[in-house]
Amino acid sequence: MISQNDPALENYISIFNNSMDAVLLTHPDGSIFYANSAAEELFGYTQNEICRLGRNGIVNTTDPNLVIMLDERAKNGRSFGELTFIKKDGSKFPGELSTNVFKDKNGVVNTFMIIRDITRRKNAEDSLKESEERYHSLFKNNHAAMLLIDPNNGSIIDSNPAASTFYGYSHEDLVKMNIKQINNLPDYDINGEMQRSKTFQKNNFVFKHTLANGQIRDVDVYSGPITVGGKNLLYSIIHDITHRKQMQNQMKDSLDESLRVQDELITLIENIVDEVWFTDSQGNIILANAAARKFQEKNQFEENISLNKLISKSKVYDSNGSLRLKDGSPLLRALNGEILTNFDETVIFPSGEKQYRQVSSAPIKNEYNNIRGAVAVVRDITEQKKIEESLRVSEERLRLAQIRGGVGVWDWNVVTNDLHFTPELEQLYGLDPGTIKTYDDWRMLTHPDDIERIETERDGQIAKHQPFDFEFRILHASGDTRWLSARGGAIYADNGQVKRVLGINIDITNRKKAEEILNTTLIRFYKILSSMSAGVLLVTADNSVEFVNQEFCDYFNLNEEPEHFIGYSSLEMTSIIKSAYRNPDEALSRISEIVSDWKSVHGEEVLMQEGKSCLRDFVPLSIDSKPYGRLWLHLDITERKRTEEELHESNTKLTREVYEHKNTELKLEEMLDELKRSNKELEQFAYVSSHDLQEPLRMVALFTQLLERRYKGKFDEDADDYIKFIVEGAQRMKLLIDDLLSYSRVNTKRSKFGSIKIDKVMYNVLSNLQVTSEENCAEIKVQESLPTIIGDESQMGQVFQNLIGNGIKFNDKETPKIGVLAEQDEDGWIFSVSDNGIGIAPQYQSQIFEVFKRLHDKYEYPGTGIGLAICQKIVERHGGKIWVESKQGEGSKFYFNIPNQKK
Ligand code: ADP
Repeated sequence: MISQNDPALENYISIFNNSMDAVLLTHPDGSIFYANSAAEELFGYTQNEICRLGRNGIVNTTDPNLVIMLDERAKNGRSFGELTFIKKDGSKFPGELSTNVFKDKNGVVNTFMIIRDITRRKNAEDSLKESEERYHSLFKNNHAAMLLIDPNNGSIIDSNPAASTFYGYSHEDLVKMNIKQINNLPDYDINGEMQRSKTFQKNNFVFKHTLANGQIRDVDVYSGPITVGGKNLLYSIIHDITHRKQMQNQMKDSLDESLRVQDELITLIENIVDEVWFTDSQGNIILANAAARKFQEKNQFEENISLNKLISKSKVYDSNGSLRLKDGSPLLRALNGEILTNFDETVIFPSGEKQYRQVSSAPIKNEYNNIRGAVAVVRDITEQKKIEESLRVSEERLRLAQIRGGVGVWDWNVVTNDLHFTPELEQLYGLDPGTIKTYDDWRMLTHPDDIERIETERDGQIAKHQPFDFEFRILHASGDTRWLSARGGAIYADNGQVKRVLGINIDITNRKKAEEILNTTLIRFYKILSSMSAGVLLVTADNSVEFVNQEFCDYFNLNEEPEHFIGYSSLEMTSIIKSAYRNPDEALSRISEIVSDWKSVHGEEVLMQEGKSCLRDFVPLSIDSKPYGRLWLHLDITERKRTEEELHESNTKLTREVYEHKNTELKLEEMLDELKRSNKELEQFAYVSSHDLQEPLRMVALFTQLLERRYKGKFDEDADDYIKFIVEGAQRMKLLIDDLLSYSRVNTKRSKFGSIKIDKVMYNVLSNLQVTSEENCAEIKVQESLPTIIGDESQMGQVFQNLIGNGIKFNDKETPKIGVLAEQDEDGWIFSVSDNGIGIAPQYQSQIFEVFKRLHDKYEYPGTGIGLAICQKIVERHGGKIWVESKQGEGSKFYFNIPNQKK
């Protein structure tokens, strides 16, 4: 209570009264002498009450801060701190207290206290603290990796232990890192995502984060803004979803796989031979595979026929042949929960075709065991049925065949010696039923030579408790011997004694006969093999020698008889014959090669000792496609080889001769060429010399003629004769030279061959000879229409002119008669020029074609002896020949042929 009259204080007090904070003024002893209205409100006391209570009445004196603050005030004259205060209602509250000492007008040091209720602030502070603690514990202890990130640059501000575990970085490392070092997105995108998270646009992300070990993981990130310590940050909760992703992929794969399997199943169902039917629980057909659709088609049902209609419309019979009632359908029965397996039914299609079927059907249930549909699988067993049927028929046939085909059964009671034969068995003996009654009856009818053997054999087997099997002969009622086979066994009493012997007999007479035939065939076969000129060795499939012939033994120098080697193993045999081969090792390896090839070998040459050689055949023998044996044949060809060699030798000789002959021919040809060449040279010489001689000759002729004309009669008579001789000689020389020139020109001045009409040629010739012919009163007869040939026209004219001219010249008849004829032969044409002249003695007939060859004196018949030589040359140039037929005094006929020219 203010009692002092202190004007300064009073001024303050008016301010205090308006203060929001509680203000108290105290004396040094702690008594309060002023409290403002805010204090009254705060503590719930009136000013008087507060003053009365004093400081200790409103302060929690146990608060340790009190002493601290009092000390501070005592030292500094002021203090500031928090204290616990007590209200009138006894409740305590935290308050912020600031104190200042001041002196009043009397110099007394009083205290001025300002108290502010900080309950709310405290509460807020507490809850903040609590929430931060909670955040911390949440952050640190979270199993999920958590990061605090600065959204402005991505640097990591904080991380929890789970983050270290996950990323493999220590906390210290992480808080130095940037999220961009972890997140695989490009920096730009990371910035974008952080902004979106900061502004609540997105809070869930899927990223790929790189761990310290380089591994990349798929992570699911929850992120959002958070204010920590006054900073706006981003929290991120990171979950590794790599495994989940993998699982998802795996699930996708397995889904794909199951879809594929489903696809395959559907394809399988569609394509199996059996009909497959599926219905839903309502009996609607939901699947009918190709075979099932075929069934519908055969029944001429519409495509989407309902099950009910399908059942009522098809004609189905049960296995007992009665028409099946509608509810007997396997699918309907399956819908009622029944399972059917291999249920036989028969369907008759509208075409009349009958189908035997085997049906299996079952309900399809869901997980709650409710029937959700039915499935039926139907197999067409018609074929099988048919086979069964034919099998049944053939079995029946077999049974009948047995009866007819000689099978009988017997039963011998050893104790009573009774023997029971079935009628079929008695029939085999040719006996009436009931004839055989005892064992002795049987013995009577058994071939005496066989009884002992078969009894021994049979009893031996029975003693060993083994079945017996033997063959024996019986005496048939017809008197024939027949063969039976017996198979059977005994029935024993408990003490081991034989009670009964039972058996079955089969008539094997025919087989035995066949065997006999086979045996004789075999014998014949062996005989053939024995008599073969080739060495024969037959080895069976089990490598034992079955047959060898003498030839073989001879060939391989074996001294024993062939029979000696029968039964030898092939190994023994080869070691015996080995040395006969020229190259034993090579021969043996070839043999084993042939055997393992198991293919026929024919005519393979084998070299043997002593220069011998043979041809080897290998024949693999199989019976019923099983190897039976191998047949080796060896044919000695040493002799043949020798003949061949001789032949070869004489052949070589012949070839050599032919070669030599050829050589001679070649030489001849060469000579001919040489001849041709020298001929040509000669011609050349003749031409050159005759041509070049003409000039000096003309000089000689000219000047001797001048000599004759001018000096004839001026010398003596002899001189005149000499001059005459010179002139004549020169003239003759000129003739000779002219003719020689024309001879040489046959080849040097020739023209090309062309088509020439001999008619025309003859016309020119006759006109050239007209004067000569008229002077000699000659008659020239030319065949009408002479042929056209290929040749040199002027040369042909020359030939005819020479021949006709000669015919007139060498003629002593009043009327020389010349004939020209042409006749065709296979090669071409033969021309002839005949005359009735003086003829030519046989010894000269070939000589006259030589150059300068003449038979007469030049005074008798003028001429140079070159005409015929020219003719021959021309004819030869045309590929022909010239010859003469003549009789002295009667005339001559010159022939020449011109063969058709080859184009
Ligand atoms: P040339 O007529 O110049 O004597 P050829 O060569 O024509 O020369 O005849 C050679 C020889 O052949 C003649 O000298 C003649 O003795 C004989 N000769 C040729 N043709 C006939 C013929 N038609 N009759 C008889 N002899 C002939």
